[in-house]
This record gives sequence, structure tokens and C-alpha cells, in this order.
Amino acid sequence: MAAEIRLFPCLTDNFGYLIHDPATKATASIDAPEAAPILRALEREGWTLTDILITHHHHDHVGGVAELKQKFGCRVVAPHDKSTKIADVDLRAAQGDVVKVGSLLARVLETPGHTLDHISYVFDTEKAVFAADTLFSIGCGRVFEGTYPMMWDSLLKLRSLPDDFDLYCGHEYTASNVKFALTIEPDNAALKARAEQVTKLRAEGRPTIPVKLGNEKQANVFLRADEPSVAASVRMKGAGAAEVFGELRERKNKS
Ligand SMILES: [Zn+2]
Repeated sequence: MAAEIRLFPCLTDNFGYLIHDPATKATASIDAPEAAPILRALEREGWTLTDILITHHHHDHVGGVAELKQKFGCRVVAPHDKSTKIADVDLRAAQGDVVKVGSLLARVLETPGHTLDHISYVFDTEKAVFAADTLFSIGCGRVFEGTYPMMWDSLLKLRSLPDDFDLYCGHEYTASNVKFALTIEPDNAALKARAEQVTKLRAEGRPTIPVKLGNEKQANVFLRADEPSVAASVRMKGAGAAEVFGELRERKNKS
């Protein structure tokens, strides 16, 4: 029996995610922006929460942990980095660790930059990656705690995953990301196709997630900082990819 994944809105523009293992009935919430929508989703499905897999310490990713932990006594898995305080943690996960959700296996990638503690969860069998605020569709997270080279390395880790993997990110920011990306790559055919798709999905009130990683590799300018054409479009011909990435991120911050 294949794993089941549900996504639903939380807070203003966060995604809530549940991944369920029919074989063992285990269910994990990826982050917990707030408890109420997660509780409603669990009730809708008739699932019981067994695990919370936290990606990073920001409040809009952990705000619901305490209430859920109290209600279900579920296991809380959090990043290895203890420099920031996350309450109720049962297990710390670092690069290469494999976290079990029932019989499902989540491989941990350290993806710092947005925060120093940020990790992503890769479910290889399910071909799904939960990248939270490191990689968005057609965008990436702001670099709050790390450096641009650090964030670029994290994006490269995610980019090295297979094209047919589904990207599940932390926020519904795709429309605004598309608008910015078109200022850098107005002639990118994959980006233009994604732009049309996103306009349609948003008009229908539907989420733009998940999206295939292969699509993102072609259309997401932040994954393309090592393309000579992208360097040229920001007048940085010959510059290193991390530098070009930094320039793209700065421009997005100001957009
Ligand atoms: Zn964040």
C-alpha cells in the first residue's frame, strides 16, 4: 500500500502536510504551523498523529507542536542544531539520518541558509521531498542566518534529487516567485509554462504544490544560478554560482 500525503493551508500562507503509512497507520505531520488545521485534517482522514518532523525553528513551523504533542503524545523529531530552542523534542536528526514513520523512511538532508538548523526530509520510496523554507516553487527562502554560499550548497543538495520527485515546500509563494523570475528569465519556456499553470491554479483557488523537481530545475531561477545565461542576465558573466545566487536573492528581497 502506497503512502498517502495530504496538504492543506495553515496560518496566512503556510502549508500543512500529513504523510500516512497505511501498513502501520503511522502518520507524521511535517512541521506544525498551528494545531487546528492539522487536527481537522487528521479527523477528516481518521488518522492518529504519531510523529512531527520539524524542519527548522521558526514559529510558523513549530507553533502547533506543544498542543499536538500534548494531545497525541507523538514523537517530535527536530534538527540536530540545538542553538535555537524547540520545545518537546524527542529525537534530533542530522545529515544522513533515516527517520522512520511507521514503515516509511525519511532521509535527512541538512539544508542550512534560511536558518542554520534547517533540514529537509526525503522520502525516497514515495519520491517526495519536504524542503520547507529552503526551496520554494520558482523561489527559495530568504537567507536569514546563513550565507549565500551555504544556501547555494543546500539548493544543490536538493537539485541533485531525481526529476520525478515531488517538491513539497513550506509556503504558497509561487505566484510572487514567478513574477520575480520572469524579470530575470523572460524567455525561459519552462518558466512561462509554469507561470500559466500557476495563474490557472490560483484562479481556481488550488495550491501550486506539489511540483516535480525536474520542472523546478528548468524553471526556478534560484536553482539555475550556475547557468551562464542567468549570470549574463544579472550582468555577472563569469562570476561564481554562489555569487550569482546571492545577487538573485538580493534582487528578490528588494522586489
Ligand atoms: Zn522559516
